Amino acid sequence: VLGSTGSVGVSTLDLIAANPDRFETTALVANKNWQRLAEQARAVGAKSAVLADESGYEALKSALSDTETEVTAGEQAVIEAMDRDCDVVMAAVVGTAGLAPTLAALKPGRALALANKECLVSAGALFMQTARRNGATVLPVDSEHNAIFQAIDGRPLDGLEKIILTASGGPFRTWSIEQMAVATPEQALNHPNWSMGSKITIDSATMMNKGLELIEAYHLFPIDVSGLDVYIHRQSAVHGLVQFSDGSILAQMGAADMRIPISYCLDWPARLANDSRRLDLAQLGRLDFERPDMSQFPALALALECLKTGRGATTVLNAANEIAVAAFLDRKIGFTQIAQVVEEVLENAAATDLLVEPDSMEGVFELDGSARRLAHTNIHRLAANER
Ligand code: NDP
Repeated sequence: VLGSTGSVGVSTLDLIAANPDRFETTALVANKNWQRLAEQARAVGAKSAVLADESGYEALKSALSDTETEVTAGEQAVIEAMDRDCDVVMAAVVGTAGLAPTLAALKPGRALALANKECLVSAGALFMQTARRNGATVLPVDSEHNAIFQAIDGRPLDGLEKIILTASGGPFRTWSIEQMAVATPEQALNHPNWSMGSKITIDSATMMNKGLELIEAYHLFPIDVSGLDVYIHRQSAVHGLVQFSDGSILAQMGAADMRIPISYCLDWPARLANDSRRLDLAQLGRLDFERPDMSQFPALALALECLKTGRGATTVLNAANEIAVAAFLDRKIGFTQIAQVVEEVLENAAATDLLVEPDSMEGVFELDGSARRLAHTNIHRLAANER
């Protein structure tokens, strides 16, 4: 489990701990949180526990000294942990940091449960090519893509006409742009339906998350940009819909609980029973769907535009957004300035001929780094203008 101490990681560990006869844990990987990593390793009897950040190594080693869990640390140790024999890897590291270990996890015959979005947004074509070349099966963990995966259920893909992702609309669904301009991190972190890590929760509030998901869907399923659609669906009961060439639409529904898509990936193609809340449609009473207002959520329009542009634009979008979200959480920029920074970085990148489709992972990291530097420059300028 890559990113075992995070939101997706903890839900994954819940399911593993509840099914000791079904799973053996080969390796748990986190960045700094050695305390939670030690508790988790003990709870499931993990064979190894790995910290990406070496500063917590001694503390983790001593916390697990009376167990048989092997303790290692450092970026190379994380990559080496992916060489251990296992059937399924949960890839749930947040951000671009997840790229290298997730790529290393793509091994023959292995199922890769992919939660990390950046692999597909920053390096989608390269990532899917590597998965195919290495003979690994990519299973989407993100609830919307998992819904699409379940709805397609192995059907012939030439009949696929449209993929529709649903979005809750986040905490600011009914807010005006003026209200959003003065929104605080606390308000943006208050998601109405889902409990998730802070980066993705802010992305849900800007709806960049849905934009990133459109990019993910484009790489996961054989569909043109024109076949991708988003509905705002505030009940978060229908997670994704697939429309086929005969006009039929299939949808997947369930409670807003990540343990449902995670269960599906852990035991695919079987279904792993879990005690998640069951959806009571009669109690819910109604399901609402509406089209998002792109002027209220410009991040969504930016993501779609990048998908059409190609030439590494989604890599730039992702990097600029990561920096802008961190700056908002640090109260350096306002909420609506997140999309503004991303848009400016995309314009700067186009104007300076940075936009070129990367043909290697090194190329992805280089473009990602350039976009981050541009984002920092834009943020400094915005912050200076405010003073
Ligand atoms: P969190 O922020 O809750 O957790 C991130 C995890 O990654 C932690 O375990 C963290 O360790 C670990 N980590 C961070 N940096 C490194 C690194 N350099 N090397 C190794 N491990 C690292 O994130 P989420 O669980 O919310 O999200 C994980 C991914 O899944 C994201 O890409 C997100 O977009 C995606 N996703 C999340 C969903 C959700 O419901 N949360 C839904 C769908 C997709 P530590 O605790 O030590 O910092």
